[in-house]
Amino acid sequence: MDSRDKVLDKYSSKIYKNRKEHVIEIEAGEPQVIAADTRAIPGIMTNRGCCYAGCKGVVIGPLKDVVNIVHGPIGCAYYTWGTRRNKAKSDENTKDFTQYSFCTDMQETDIVFGGEKKLRQAIKEAMEIFNPECIMISSTCPVGLIGDDIHAVAAEAEKQYGIKVLAFSCEGYKGVSQSGGHHIANNGLMKYIIGTGDAEPQKYSINLLGEYNIGGDGWEVERILKRIGYHVVSVMTGDGSYDHMKNAHTADLNLVQCHRSINYIAEMMKTKYGIDWIKVNFIGLESIKQSLLDIAAYFNDPELLARTEAVIAEEEEEIAVGMAYYKSMLDGKKAAIYVGGSRTHHYINLLKYLGVDVILAGYEFGHRDDYEGRDVIPSIKIDADSKNIESITVTKDEANYKTFHTPEKIEALKAAGVPLEKYDGLWADIAEGAIITDDFNHFETEEFLKLLKPDIFFSGIKDKFIVQKSGVPSRQLHSYDYSGPYAGFRGALNFAKDITMATYTPVWNMVQAPWKSEPTLVGSLGGME
Ligand code: SF4
Repeated sequence: MDSRDKVLDKYSSKIYKNRKEHVIEIEAGEPQVIAADTRAIPGIMTNRGCCYAGCKGVVIGPLKDVVNIVHGPIGCAYYTWGTRRNKAKSDENTKDFTQYSFCTDMQETDIVFGGEKKLRQAIKEAMEIFNPECIMISSTCPVGLIGDDIHAVAAEAEKQYGIKVLAFSCEGYKGVSQSGGHHIANNGLMKYIIGTGDAEPQKYSINLLGEYNIGGDGWEVERILKRIGYHVVSVMTGDGSYDHMKNAHTADLNLVQCHRSINYIAEMMKTKYGIDWIKVNFIGLESIKQSLLDIAAYFNDPELLARTEAVIAEEEEEIAVGMAYYKSMLDGKKAAIYVGGSRTHHYINLLKYLGVDVILAGYEFGHRDDYEGRDVIPSIKIDADSKNIESITVTKDEANYKTFHTPEKIEALKAAGVPLEKYDGLWADIAEGAIITDDFNHFETEEFLKLLKPDIFFSGIKDKFIVQKSGVPSRQLHSYDYSGPYAGFRGALNFAKDITMATYTPVWNMVQAPWKSEPTLVGSLGGME
């Protein structure tokens, strides 16, 4: 029996029937199908987050000049406050409110008698103390259950204070994971913010989508892009701002880093403003180089290409000695990686470059296209949970629509391999024999750790500690623990250093998982203990 079967074999037949579609082993030959973006089994300790976490915690939370009010209990607000380490700093035009946690702190009486009054008061206080240009309101489970009309309160406040006030009905129970919240956030930003600015278009201008500046990743990517000569109009949303996002429609090209959380905006901006998008990956040397060359190929300017090549050469040289050392330390190690909906894929090439084999991988909230590539989108069945998340349709904005290339040139670029509106998913880079688990849970984590014995486990927020308690080092890839950046050339060096330290520290030999020395079940049989 192989490892996959050994783990699944322990489930009851009902659970086995569900999980066998989500856990597969990569085989050579025909492309494999995986079940994804479906409900977690009740009672199973899933590592997923809720819809509100996806909307407020991931997409709109990092917008620095926005006062993000959580309408709900304080626990929900605390859950999305600072846990992703999306860094931000104020600049001359923007304030930075990201260090604050704004919440209506709903109590029992508010649940019984309604919380709209409290929400109005919270907006009033935010205006008096912080005077922001934009307020966003996120609703949580109890708000959805009692039916507070946050959209009416937002519309009223917008009129009263003359600023932008947006409401997001992203109650935690909607959809099957945080993925639904990403979609809801994308819809709101597209409907009410993008395209409302009046900045003049700049040469070689880009938006960076799905870059959340975890540990400073976005700053590192921007540094490289600016060195080459690009004008970054807006970053969505790490260190991003309402002020910049208003003018996102003036960009020539959208770069999509995290496919899962923001592909909706990329698609809608293509339809509404004619802006092309390409999938990039700024994690891992080969991926960064390829992404920079793809961007240069899109703009089709020999000078820009020459600058790109020069910057790549200089950045690579700067880290060459360090990378060679860490490669020698990490060669032959085995890793498990289980995060997000795109992040797992992003790290695979960097790990490969360092000589680390990825033997177990998966996504918390990925859809089938994040595994199998966008070509499968037309064949994905829309179930009731997906229908619960609004899918908006946009039309051409005649005043702001512009195309950088003719349709013929776009086809030529596609034929030359520039990934325009293309993403091949995790399957493109994962090695044969690796086990893929969608919506991984705590039981499977423990079982696979015992069977596969990885040298390091790249985890999400909830699973980090069970991994460490079992004696396996873990780096958290939602927040990078206390490190980063990991993006860009310098980030790759930071990553290599961190995982070398993690795997070589002797502390892991001193940790023994409790289940190795203590019985996990105690009972008696016929009077005997
Ligand atoms: S699931 Fe509901 S109650 Fe829990 S954090 Fe999310 S919104 Fe709050």
